[in-house]
Amino acid sequence: MSLVHLHQLIKSFRGQLVLDQFDLEVESGSYLVLLGPSGCGKTTTLRMIAGLERPDSGQVNINGENVTSVPPRKRDVSMVFQNDGLYPHLTVEQTLRLALRGRCKASEVDSRFSEAVDLTGVSKLLDRLPGQMSGGELRRAAIATAIAKKTVIRLFDEPMSALDVGLREQMQRDLVRWHHEVPGATIHVTHDGNEAMRSADRIAVMGGGRILQVGDPATVYDQPQEIAVAKAIGTPAMNWLAADTVDGWIRLNNPTLAMSGTVRVDADASCDGVILGVRPGGFLLTRKEEREQPNAIPGLHLSTKLLDCRIVQETVEIIVQFADTEWTAVFNRKDCGQLPTPGELIFLCVPADALHVFSASTQRRLDISLVG
Ligand code: ATP
Repeated sequence: MSLVHLHQLIKSFRGQLVLDQFDLEVESGSYLVLLGPSGCGKTTTLRMIAGLERPDSGQVNINGENVTSVPPRKRDVSMVFQNDGLYPHLTVEQTLRLALRGRCKASEVDSRFSEAVDLTGVSKLLDRLPGQMSGGELRRAAIATAIAKKTVIRLFDEPMSALDVGLREQMQRDLVRWHHEVPGATIHVTHDGNEAMRSADRIAVMGGGRILQVGDPATVYDQPQEIAVAKAIGTPAMNWLAADTVDGWIRLNNPTLAMSGTVRVDADASCDGVILGVRPGGFLLTRKEEREQPNAIPGLHLSTKLLDCRIVQETVEIIVQFADTEWTAVFNRKDCGQLPTPGELIFLCVPADALHVFSASTQRRLDISLVG
């Protein structure tokens, strides 16, 4: 039985449908990240679980019990809001101690208090009021409050948004570690795909008022089932190209695109257009007309002029103009040898297993059966 089960939720605000027969199950022990673009309904979903918002229809179940009409204080749920949610007249210490009141034995209060303070690094902020703290400090104080409560369900709405890079990375690791020490589930909302991959054991991608795909981070990244999922995760973003199919074959022997290759797609005959996607890390830099070679790697081969080339940490990012868009390819610096220069003609290959193919009409993933 799932710890949280949202069943067929429908929610509209002022006639605008936000959740449309929304289903989600979260198991106990899971650190689930809800990922999606701004305005897709992530916060609304958390507020339904916390009991701060009622669905127009559908059920919120916690531990097998229908809690749709149960008030927030009777649910074993804590929530860190996007805008901190601290009391303006209480110091951080007073807020933390208030959060613990009635939640644990008197003998446990000090250890829980210290644990939350240490984990979030708020020891120097204990005597501050919310009006005396920066955005990042407020965020840490709010996370400390949720941690101190040790509820079975923890909801974090954009918990890293106001933190600087170093603190964000530390907090991500700490939250995951803390999550594993406290029984229950954590649901963390973000629109940052990297943050999702670093924190989650499961990612649920939202769009159009529903869950588009849920799975472990590697599967969601490697096998996105819809274009919107592929766009939600991955930096730099996936590269795209529209192509036609004829009897299930995509033939890309277009001299103006300087691209060649033939791909067989398992799609019904009605699928007459496809969208090809290539992750920036999916290219091979061949440096010669590999497609002319007798043992050319099966896949797509393209030649194009380099627009830009940048070293980014351990990688080299190259930008090429392709069709009417710019594509980004990323290589390991060690594999690159001498860097190409802007204006130079370069040859790239996309091996078959790095090619993502989606139907232009349904936006859903299509299987490739053969590449030649
Ligand atoms: P963000 O990432 O920007 O925080 P989100 O995915 O969390 O966005 P929600 O905050 O759930 O999105 O909002 C979803 C939609 O519902 C938005 O269009 C928002 O304007 C609308 N909405 C949310 N709450 C209310 C409300 N109380 N009254 C009217 N509209 C609302």
